[in-house]
Amino acid sequence: MSALRGELRLNEPMAKHCTWRAGGAAKRFYIPADLDDLSAFMRQTPAADPLHFVGLGSNLLVRDGGIDGTVIATSPALSQIKAISETQRWISAGTPCAQIARKTARDGLLGGGFFAGIPGALGGALAMNAGAFGGETWHMVDYVETIDRQGQIKRRDSEDFNIGYRYAQARFESEEYFFAAVLSFQTNSDAEAVSQATTHIKQLLQQRKDTQPTHLPSCGSVFKNPVGHHAAKLIQDCGLKGLRIGDACVSDKHANFIVNLGKATATEIEALIQHVQARVLADTGIALIPEVRMLGTPLAK
Ligand SMILES: Cc1cc2nc3c(=O)[nH]c(=O)nc-3n(C[C@H](O)[C@H](O)[C@H](O)COP(=O)(O)OP(=O)(O)OC[C@H]3O[C@@H](n4cnc5c(N)ncnc54)[C@H](O)[C@@H]3O)c2cc1C
Repeated sequence: MSALRGELRLNEPMAKHCTWRAGGAAKRFYIPADLDDLSAFMRQTPAADPLHFVGLGSNLLVRDGGIDGTVIATSPALSQIKAISETQRWISAGTPCAQIARKTARDGLLGGGFFAGIPGALGGALAMNAGAFGGETWHMVDYVETIDRQGQIKRRDSEDFNIGYRYAQARFESEEYFFAAVLSFQTNSDAEAVSQATTHIKQLLQQRKDTQPTHLPSCGSVFKNPVGHHAAKLIQDCGLKGLRIGDACVSDKHANFIVNLGKATATEIEALIQHVQARVLADTGIALIPEVRMLGTPLAK
């Protein structure tokens, strides 16, 4: 058995690791020191012990009863960006998307600016096929590297996944997590074009600040947009803006955001999600599907 060099925390409050700043604790929470350490940890974890990889927790609701298993934090240890050709970058799963946008723009590369709109890490962006400002994560992917329960790294192509609007599901049976991806960018020797692209993204980010409650804890859009509809408009038209359960509140600024006004619990947030779904279904016949991922068990009564 190799000695582990990472940090194992027991009963770690996941509210510290989720942008909603709410939720229960993880029985075990592991921050690997590096890839070798992560591989060793994976090999030593009993196969029956459920594992959950997380990035920056910006699309995650952990129920108040907590997670009976092990959470692996990919940030900050797994956050490297390496140039492997003029246009390709190897990027590990814990790298914040904002850093990908900044670094690739600095290198004179185009196409990665949309990552500035995603407050997560690359692994989460791959799992969610996150997108913003017309860009989408899997459009950039040459291939990904996954890590399995034995700590082995495997190369996988996009054909190995069913990829769509805010999902990327493995077509293979084995339990694997995103470890890294090789992304392709465009080069542009015209420094002016790169600077214009950066300015455009800054303007789009400013627009967001004007239209979204970015000053309050949230997970961004709670629901996917149903085909042909905007979830925010459906919720707003049902008169649900401002509706509260405890400190969980449908934002006045953007109806597809549920914000934490202070001490919201995951139970309150989930109850509000269900209330919004029931009301929109009753009034419009449209079923809203959550974009946010939920983990763990509810509090025992
Ligand atoms: C203010 C705000 C604005 C947002 N705007 C956008 C937007 O414009 N577009 C958009 O798409 N999203 C947006 N989001 C949602 C969120 O940022 C994205 O879904 C992001 O990709 C999640 O990344 P994360 O690292 O935070 O993932 P987490 O929340 O940590 O995890 C999300 C899911 O991915 C899984 N996961 C994480 N890492 C791995 C891994 N290495 N291997 C396998 N599975 C993994 C987790 O288990 C979980 O199921 C927004 C969120 C906020 C708070």
